Amino acid sequence: MKKTRIVALVLMLVLCVGIFAACGSKPGKGLDTVEDGVLVMATNAEFPPYEFIENNEVVGIDAEIAAAIAEKLGLTLKIENMEFDSIISSVKGGKADVGVAGMTVTDERLEEVAFSTTYATGVQVVIVTEDSPITAVDDLFAEGANHTIGVQLATTGDLYSTWDIEDEGLGTVDRYAKGADAVMALKNGKVDCVVIDNEPAKAFVAENEGLKILDTEYAVEDYAIAMNKDKAELNAAIDTALQELIKDGTVQAILDKYIG
Ligand code: GLN
Repeated sequence: MKKTRIVALVLMLVLCVGIFAACGSKPGKGLDTVEDGVLVMATNAEFPPYEFIENNEVVGIDAEIAAAIAEKLGLTLKIENMEFDSIISSVKGGKADVGVAGMTVTDERLEEVAFSTTYATGVQVVIVTEDSPITAVDDLFAEGANHTIGVQLATTGDLYSTWDIEDEGLGTVDRYAKGADAVMALKNGKVDCVVIDNEPAKAFVAENEGLKILDTEYAVEDYAIAMNKDKAELNAAIDTALQELIKDGTVQAILDKYIG
């Protein structure tokens, strides 16, 4: 009796391994992607070094991570460049499989999309002009403060400064389509500071004279891949691939390549 049960168990195991092997040999097949055999990634290529345009192509950390995931799943990666504000609706509306855009996990977004495992940390920082009277993040929340804050529309920099500053009557938030436009507004004296993620902040400050990043941090957050809530199976496959790439050091190597 015991023996037959063991035999049955072994047979079942063999069968399972066989099924997995068969799936493995035809990766990509059967995955419920927007386009057959393709992983469609929505992003906003205005966010160096996570995504930016080089030689008419979207490149950067997120493009490389998505390419590695697609390869693991036997899919071809297709990148759709759009406004940051359109990424979530594109994923939710079934036009893209993933939103990979240095996207912070927030409770509000979790109502719209599913998020993968976290693959990087982001920090919201404040950019000011070198001679700015704003010397620390707390200056923005001080009683009687009345600053104009430049942000990229619909980013967490926009959300936080809207809640903490505009809604509190401590200033105004000016929303720009691109982070680079908010930085231009700062250079031209139209805003007093820009709240934005630390890595693009570093890139923008390096490109523009007379600007600096405050030492104090506004917020620390997690970046993850946004996915369609209705596609549990595809999402699990994407997340497993991402977890493997984190475990084997691929993600860290990609981060190190772009972030010195
Ligand atoms: N991390 C920020 C957010 O998720 C900004 C991302 C971006 O501009 N690409 O809102």
